[in-house]
Amino acid sequence: MAQPYLSVVVPVYNEQENLPALFARLTAVLDRIGKPCEILFTNDGSRDNSLALLRDFHRQRPKQVRVIDFNGNFGQHMAIMAAFERARGEVVVTLDADLQNPPEEIPKLLAEIENGHDVVGGYRKDRQDSWFRRRASRLLNLIRESTTRIRMRDQGCMLRAYRRSIVEHITASGETSTFIPALAMSYAAHPAEIEVEHAARAAGESKYSLYKLIRLNFDLMTGFSVVPLQVFTLFGMVISIGSLLFVVYLFIRRLIIGPEVQGVFTLFAILYFLVGVGIMGLGVIGEYIGRIYQEVRRRPRFMIRDVYEQLDD
Ligand code: UDP
Ligand code: MG
Repeated sequence: MAQPYLSVVVPVYNEQENLPALFARLTAVLDRIGKPCEILFTNDGSRDNSLALLRDFHRQRPKQVRVIDFNGNFGQHMAIMAAFERARGEVVVTLDADLQNPPEEIPKLLAEIENGHDVVGGYRKDRQDSWFRRRASRLLNLIRESTTRIRMRDQGCMLRAYRRSIVEHITASGETSTFIPALAMSYAAHPAEIEVEHAARAAGESKYSLYKLIRLNFDLMTGFSVVPLQVFTLFGMVISIGSLLFVVYLFIRRLIIGPEVQGVFTLFAILYFLVGVGIMGLGVIGEYIGRIYQEVRRRPRFMIRDVYEQLDD
């Protein structure tokens, strides 16, 4: 197969129940597109039968299916990154393995790319996730809108298409923890967004625990904005000015009325609140320092155990 037109990138982490249906639907769509297409699966350290299934897909379509097998769990975005480094397509589409993003929507994304857009994001039409997830996402979208320069409707939607040049910029970024849709948006010159269908997870459960979700959003915040740090500086300034005024007031009050002993607990409450804010501020600084530390160690951002592919060149 010559240089493919399209590379479809799918990160896989313990998705054995979903892979057969995904593969059937995805290949059906790609066959209809009628241009050379490849599929890159990254097995992100699955502990179930996913790898065996993926290798079987490769055996079925050796020239079309490429499988990258990670040496552990490096996360969805690193799984995509590894596939981006190897994707050969003119256009690269990302997709979740759990069938929440219907493969049948891919031609819609391609049409927008053909209209001249370099990044085409999807936003999910009546999103099929828990009430809690939908609320949390709305809040996180809002926080991102107000703290970064990245504008997109639905940051959590992974059904997206990128022109090759954007993918090359993303892989050249070299960050160890990142958020691919946001990175792509920061490089996009002419992005577009379209509505895409969304289904409930076909089988299995979300691979994101609450903790992993929080970590992911910290990556997004710290990776694309220093506003969290600036907020603490501003807050500290306001508190300092307020405190100074309070000291002046207490001093004058003491000269006129005399020393006060009441209100000890009010003072404690205020103090505890400020101690809490202070600790949080330390945490925010820690988040940035931790990431700086991670970057300067320059350890590989993921480790590939094996690649199953058959390229003729
Ligand atoms: N995934 C992955 N590594 C991880 C977590 C998830 O490769 O550490 C993959 C997962 O197999 C799926 C996609 O990323 O294809 C999205 O994960 P999931 O559906 O669990 O996330 P949600 O839809 O709940 O946000
Ligand atoms: Mg999902």
